[in-house]
Amino acid sequence: MSYFLAPSLVKLRDEVNQKWPKRDKTSDGWIGDPSHAARKSDHNPDWAAPGSRRGVVRAVDIDRDGIRPFALLKRLKKDSRVYYIIFNGHIYSRSTGFKKVKYSGANAHTTHLHVSILGTDFAENSVRPWLPTFVTVETRGARVDKALVLLEQALAIAKGGRRRKLARAVREAESIAVKQKRKQV
Ligand SMILES: [Zn+2]
Repeated sequence: MSYFLAPSLVKLRDEVNQKWPKRDKTSDGWIGDPSHAARKSDHNPDWAAPGSRRGVVRAVDIDRDGIRPFALLKRLKKDSRVYYIIFNGHIYSRSTGFKKVKYSGANAHTTHLHVSILGTDFAENSVRPWLPTFVTVETRGARVDKALVLLEQALAIAKGGRRRKLARAVREAESIAVKQKRKQV
């Protein structure tokens, strides 16, 4: 059996790569070098983990260049898989409610975010999304169109006095939609 990066962290790295395709990966990393192996580090494989989890590595380093590191940090602090994050001279740990605490370790982590996950089956193996999915321009356009169709239908159904109110709503929605679509171009 050999060591491996926890599937959840593989997923995190994939999502970061997708979101910031041109990012710098110079300071990326996951498996510990000999200096890591000499001390306790989440970059070392856990040979005591049970079953198929044996050899799992529970930490990943993500280069800060070409991404929005603080936005990523904010996201990570909310994720139930995360144990702690070290970045830019500070550590944010689950044990302190992810409060910003000065990091006293030798490496201030100015070039990358260090992300450690909890030593649980879920934290290691859950590949649910880490980052919010972003609505594409095409999807947004389609949604606007759908909303307009629904409004037109409502207008067709409405009777009497409500009809005028609804007509106004439709006109407003249309002008918003036009502005939205202009913005996209
Ligand atoms: Zn690290």
